[in-house]
Amino acid sequence: HLPQLVPKKETISLLSDEEKEDTISKAELSLLAKISRTKLVTTKAEIEIQRQDPFSPLHSVKSFEALKLKPNLLKGVYEMGFNAPSKIQETALPILLADPPQNLIAQSQSGTGKTAAFVLAMLSRIIPQLNYPQVLCLSPTYELAVQTGEVAAKMGSFCDDIQIRFAVRGEDLPRGTKLTEHIVIGTPGKVLDWSLKYKFFDISKITVFVLDEADVMIATQGHQDQSFRIRRLLNEGACQIMFFSATYDDEVMEFARAIVPNPIVIRLKREEESLDNIKQHYVLCETEDDKYNAIANIYGGITVGQVMIFCQTRRIAAWLCEKMTRDGHAVALLSGDLTVESRIQVLDRFREGKEKVLITTNVLARGIDVEQVTIVVNFDLPVAEKGRADCETYLHRIGRTGRFGKRGLAINLVNRREANTVLKQIQDHFGKKINLLNTDDYDEVE
Ligand code: ADP
Repeated sequence: HLPQLVPKKETISLLSDEEKEDTISKAELSLLAKISRTKLVTTKAEIEIQRQDPFSPLHSVKSFEALKLKPNLLKGVYEMGFNAPSKIQETALPILLADPPQNLIAQSQSGTGKTAAFVLAMLSRIIPQLNYPQVLCLSPTYELAVQTGEVAAKMGSFCDDIQIRFAVRGEDLPRGTKLTEHIVIGTPGKVLDWSLKYKFFDISKITVFVLDEADVMIATQGHQDQSFRIRRLLNEGACQIMFFSATYDDEVMEFARAIVPNPIVIRLKREEESLDNIKQHYVLCETEDDKYNAIANIYGGITVGQVMIFCQTRRIAAWLCEKMTRDGHAVALLSGDLTVESRIQVLDRFREGKEKVLITTNVLARGIDVEQVTIVVNFDLPVAEKGRADCETYLHRIGRTGRFGKRGLAINLVNRREANTVLKQIQDHFGKKINLLNTDDYDEVE
């Protein structure tokens, strides 16, 4: 059975302070990206592979049939609407399903098919006649564990004999319980309790160990240590270890190397975002009211597509939303204080075009994909420490537009001082001119 998604009670302290920069945890952002995603993220980048034994056979598959899956599992894959393996799956699946099993570290951006790949491997390794946990999957949070469980339940919908158990908060069992389910999906703390403290199941009998969302995992206090403790309880010689991450920084790779012995490492680089087909402009505004007027002009002057507006704080975002709504514009507001459910509702409505403008804060620049956005407005420029330009965030924000080969437009609202400092830094960083926009004449931008 699947536990219900319950809203989390605790909030991060910064959320109550509207003047501070909006915040949202890595886990929440990952969940938002996951739930709000409608399809596979494709990329033209090539897979990179590193392995210790360059002579070990390695092949990729172009079809799910080529994997020789159990018929009911293949049926489940097609039931999910998958026609062919994604780029990362082409290489990951043969490794994950190999006999003898091979350990894998895989990194690719969110949405490229990692979860589907390891869920398929988990399901295919189960021996249903053995009524004890054989697969253990660690997720950083309750909600992410439930997401993975839902994929497993769906993909395994024709494998009636496979059962899943969630080891997450709220799931409590009487002492002396012995789990009979084949798959345990849970958070590190609860998994340790269930195995080490209460002996509900025997970790040394696990034959497939999955560590998902490793980058989110290490961002959570204590999870890394708990993961190591669980790892030490595995019977290394008899257990296949799979490690997944959306990012590839040194910290994640260090964690990966410490968890996974003799891995094959595969990596799919994020497609470079570029500013090539984005026209960048700035408008001089000394006050927030000036900025408001500039936006009202943009709104009035531009007829096609949708607009995303990025603000630095929740206060400004809320103020702008209220003012635009009062003036009769259909705008939506997405900030860190909304529940996951409301964020998804807001995004869905925007995607359907019910609102033309989405006002949001810094923190939500990542993970949101809306194809029809043609204009990005920086109500405030992204700045990092010491007031310097945060060029990476800038690229990320305005990369929301000009995607899929379309032309995009970025408009920065800045005062004179910013024009000479932060904006100039951005211009120099990318080596691309940002032109002054004459607000009386928006024809030039269309
Ligand atoms: P990740 O774990 O890398 O974030 P997911 O496995 O969650 O990626 O996949 C992202 C989205 O793409 C999901 O909606 C999933 O159902 C879909 N998807 C995954 N693999 C395929 C495939 N081979 N064909 C079509 N869609 C797929």
